[in-house]
Amino acid sequence: MSTERTSDPIDLLVVGGGTAGLPTAIEAAENGLSVLLVEKSGHLGGTLWRSWAQMAAAGTELQSRHGIHDDPDLHYDDVMRISRGTANPELVRLAVDHGAETIDWLMSRGFDMDPDAPAILYFHEPYSVARTYWGRNAGRSVLDVLLPEVQRHIDQGRIRVRTGTDLVGLRGGEGPSVDAAVLRSAAGAVEEVEAHAVVLATGGYAGNPRLFPLLTDGAPLRGPAAPTSAGDGIIAALALGARLRGRDMFLPTYGGTLKPDSDWVTSHLDDYPLLTPQSRLPWEIHVNRSGRRFVAEDDESVDKRENALTRQSGLEFWIVYDQGAAEEASPLFPAWEKEDLEKAFSEHPSFARADDLDELAALTGVDPQGLRTTVEEYNAAVATGTDPWGRTHLPAPIDRAPFYAVRNHGTALKSPAGLAVDGRLRVLGGDDRPFTNLYAVGEALGGSSMSGRSFVSGMSVTPALSFGRLIGRAVAGADHHRRT
Ligand SMILES: Cc1cc2nc3c(=O)[nH]c(=O)nc-3n(C[C@H](O)[C@H](O)[C@H](O)COP(=O)(O)OP(=O)(O)OC[C@H]3O[C@@H](n4cnc5c(N)ncnc54)[C@H](O)[C@@H]3O)c2cc1C
Repeated sequence: MSTERTSDPIDLLVVGGGTAGLPTAIEAAENGLSVLLVEKSGHLGGTLWRSWAQMAAAGTELQSRHGIHDDPDLHYDDVMRISRGTANPELVRLAVDHGAETIDWLMSRGFDMDPDAPAILYFHEPYSVARTYWGRNAGRSVLDVLLPEVQRHIDQGRIRVRTGTDLVGLRGGEGPSVDAAVLRSAAGAVEEVEAHAVVLATGGYAGNPRLFPLLTDGAPLRGPAAPTSAGDGIIAALALGARLRGRDMFLPTYGGTLKPDSDWVTSHLDDYPLLTPQSRLPWEIHVNRSGRRFVAEDDESVDKRENALTRQSGLEFWIVYDQGAAEEASPLFPAWEKEDLEKAFSEHPSFARADDLDELAALTGVDPQGLRTTVEEYNAAVATGTDPWGRTHLPAPIDRAPFYAVRNHGTALKSPAGLAVDGRLRVLGGDDRPFTNLYAVGEALGGSSMSGRSFVSGMSVTPALSFGRLIGRAVAGADHHRRT
């Protein structure tokens, strides 16, 4: 394998054509730079093809139109309250200060906003104000704005795109700085590309089950992230002496089922069971491997349920219910057809159905004595109206065969650890000195930078878009961050 070197350094090399990389390239091109955008998969878009892309911003024109009073300070306070002060204050500040202009920018380019937005959502711990936005077609609605913008700049010769090309390393320079990126084409040709500035927009590592525990204090990976989220940019920067932060910030999302043929890939997020009590009150109980409950299933705080899950062996639990709930409760899997569910209970290793609780325990590997006792205790709570876990929604006992169990896992939609950066989003070395021309953006910064050891609504996609735009402008010299 030979390494070729290109002749003229380019203005800006953006590595990764996803949520953060696309706006970086657009804004840099808009400000006159010549941009090379390299993307390892065959197409642009990254995680936006699968993300719900709920976005958060305070002080938008849309909020004003709805008469919602909000501002970046309130947003900042909410993020810090929800994350219990574990999010990165400097980056959160930067994100909340630029969120509204990002949403307004999307709207000015025809973003297909869902008519119910903005709203307070409950999949994560709620904000105090309606400030979450989403497109009618989730992440694809964002791409419907970004991709034509990129195309416009391609047509004008400002952006060149190379798909099927991946970053395999970085060559350092003086200072510290970066001189060149080592790229490999799909055909295996390796080339060094010199650039005045390099932006790592390669995403996180929630698609890499081998790397995930290594960068996350041993936490196992189960999740629906893209396989392209392999941590490449983070690894390349670490090899150059960059610093990682957030490795102790893992928190699982509460409940997702595996694909039948995988021990770590979960179903699409839309196919997860609906465990948000604000959207659907539970008729089921949740038990761990010992067959014991560990939380009030209807607790309104998802943060509390997620933290309770971190204390369960294997980060797994089973949703247990009976025929009565199967018939009377609203669907646990709202996105599934009846036949899909029937098929799952016949074939899927995570789905079990049995005529009695002992058989259900045998099928699932849950402790039979524990499960029997738990169901007895729960049925007593239903009869008395008093639950030892504090659950208040106690619609019916679990006593009608057949009995059902669905194995769930704590899952990762995004990876917590990432590259430490300064207030101008320049990658920091081990000695905390910034690389003068190496930037990181999006999930490469670590999902925990914006939400700490918690999840805060819309605080991945909006900052990825906003920071991309800021870097594009900053490299072009069109704007200098005032908060440095
Ligand atoms: C199912 C799901 C739902 C989500 N919902 C939300 C939500 O509602 N709100 C929210 O805020 N967040 C959400 N998130 C998280 C959020 O979508 C991501 O954190 C964000 O999209 C990541 O953006 P990114 O640009 O960093 O990475 P990506 O969008 O993944 O882009 C990275 C790009 O870099 C490319 N790449 C990787 N390595 C290389 C390499 N070596 N060389 C060249 N290219 C490379 C990849 O192929 C990819 O195209 C969700 C995540 C998932 C998985």
